[in-house]
Amino acid sequence: MPIFTETKFRALPIFTGLLFMLGVPLIVALLVQYDYLQDLERVSNERLALYERTLNSALQRYEYLPFLVSQTSIIKELVTKGGNKLEVNVFLQAANQKAESAAIYVLNNDGIVVAASNWTERDSFIGLDLKFRPYFKDAMKGSGGKFFGVGVMAGEPGFYLSHPIRIRDDVVGVVATKVVLSPLETLWQEGGETVFVADSNGVIVLSSRPKWKYRTLVPLSKDTLSEIHERWQYPEPKLKALASRTSYLLGFRELHIGKERFLRNSRSIPGMDWQISYLMNEAPLWERTLGTALTSFVLVGLAILTRMFLRERSQRELSRQQAIEAERIRKMNKQLALEIEERKRTEKELRAAQEELVQAGKLAALGEMATAVAHELNQPIAAIKTYIASSRLMLSRGKLDDLSPNLNKISELGDRMAKVTGQLKSFVRKSSNKKSEFDLRLAIDESLTLMKHQFQVEACELDLNLPDSPIQVVGDRVRLEQVLINLFRNALDSMQDTRAALIGVSLTTEGDKARIHVWDNGPGIAEEIGNRLFEPFVTTKKEGVGLGLGLSISYKIIKDMGGKIRAGNHPELGAEFFLHLPLANSDKE
Ligand code: ADP
Repeated sequence: MPIFTETKFRALPIFTGLLFMLGVPLIVALLVQYDYLQDLERVSNERLALYERTLNSALQRYEYLPFLVSQTSIIKELVTKGGNKLEVNVFLQAANQKAESAAIYVLNNDGIVVAASNWTERDSFIGLDLKFRPYFKDAMKGSGGKFFGVGVMAGEPGFYLSHPIRIRDDVVGVVATKVVLSPLETLWQEGGETVFVADSNGVIVLSSRPKWKYRTLVPLSKDTLSEIHERWQYPEPKLKALASRTSYLLGFRELHIGKERFLRNSRSIPGMDWQISYLMNEAPLWERTLGTALTSFVLVGLAILTRMFLRERSQRELSRQQAIEAERIRKMNKQLALEIEERKRTEKELRAAQEELVQAGKLAALGEMATAVAHELNQPIAAIKTYIASSRLMLSRGKLDDLSPNLNKISELGDRMAKVTGQLKSFVRKSSNKKSEFDLRLAIDESLTLMKHQFQVEACELDLNLPDSPIQVVGDRVRLEQVLINLFRNALDSMQDTRAALIGVSLTTEGDKARIHVWDNGPGIAEEIGNRLFEPFVTTKKEGVGLGLGLSISYKIIKDMGGKIRAGNHPELGAEFFLHLPLANSDKE
């Protein structure tokens, strides 16, 4: 199984990518646009102020003229007494020429033109009835009038200024001056910028765009239209609303006219109900905004692509490293599998060898046992044969009284043989499984009681140390007693030649184990058997006394109880044996 799976290239999350690709250019474009709009507003303020100044100076230039003319005596005489018309006309013509205005004329209090600077021209104003004109009405009321409208005669647009002619407090007539603003408009048109002036009704009265002239920013109401009609102010067929709309861009005022979009900056003309507007075409603004957006879009795109490229490259490098690592691990796994296989094979071989050894060991033990048994049994069998032969002889001779000792001997030999086979049976026998929990103190007491007689015969002292409280273990109590008896028996056997023989027994606990210590002050365990003490048929005893099975049987019994038996020589005394047995409680745990 592969340890590493191939790492796949993970694309930048589409959402984040899109957000960056669109969001960043948008924000940059907005910032740039706002900055540019501020610049444009500054410029348009300056331009608007300039246009306003030129318009104001054009309007104010002639303001004094009707007043001056109205003050002359010949004019006053003309409107009161009929006066010298020719003289007045010549005067007005000269004054108009000097002032460079379009026309100067005098109206009587009925609104009829009685003298005019253009008296010699074909379309002279003389005789015209202009009482409907607001500038006449205003002047008749006693104040100066201002009015913009088309001329009655030629329809030429003009700015009209008027002043009353007074005799004491009475207004007896009006002097009016017409000023033509078309040269100013021509200048504006030539400037190439977009400027217009609209009156309070939204009618465009002056404009750098000739097509917009007399068009309106909003549709005019019927009342307004009839007012205009009465004043004969504008060429009425032209008074149609432009397709215009006002909106706002980042807080700046916009004016849409037709398909064009402008930034609009306006201000009122002092002393007039006019508003002058300076328009800036938005095309460059949008070009710049779009350009910025596109540039930042491309830059962000490039940045993302670069990042993706670098990422992919590092991913590829990572994948390559991982593949190398995976290959290395695969090889290691293979090697490991081979080694495991090799181990298993070796283990199998070892097990086979071990089994062979066990088999061989068993056979050797069997051989040893057979030799020992044959040895142990041959001698009494030979003796029995001898006794039987001598008994037969006695029988044939009729010595019946002598037979009894022979028969006793045969019986003793039989007992000895039974003892040998008994010991063998005990060695071969498996654990009885008669397990129960018991107090070790009782087992020790019981085995000592059984040995009491031997202790007395051998004149051996006992040093017994048992605890006050019980020490519980689990196992076959009778077999444990058998172990203890064997230990006592061996100790007594070893101390045949020892004076003041002493056997010590103590019982203690060590952690979760019970410890029985059996020692004596005999000669200790012979060096030559020290290592093989617990093997069967190892003995130093005289023939017929021991088979060398006692300790190996003990070893088995203690092992069956989950314990350990250890033997050694005390540095000062004789041999000592330690039995370690698991405590009942710890065993339960
Ligand atoms: P056996 O008693 O039939 O010889 P054991 O297995 O009980 O068989 O003992 C084996 C040998 O261990 C004894 O022959 C003896 O040499 C030695 N041995 C056992 N206990 C002692 C002891 N307390 N002191 C000296 N030697 C001992």
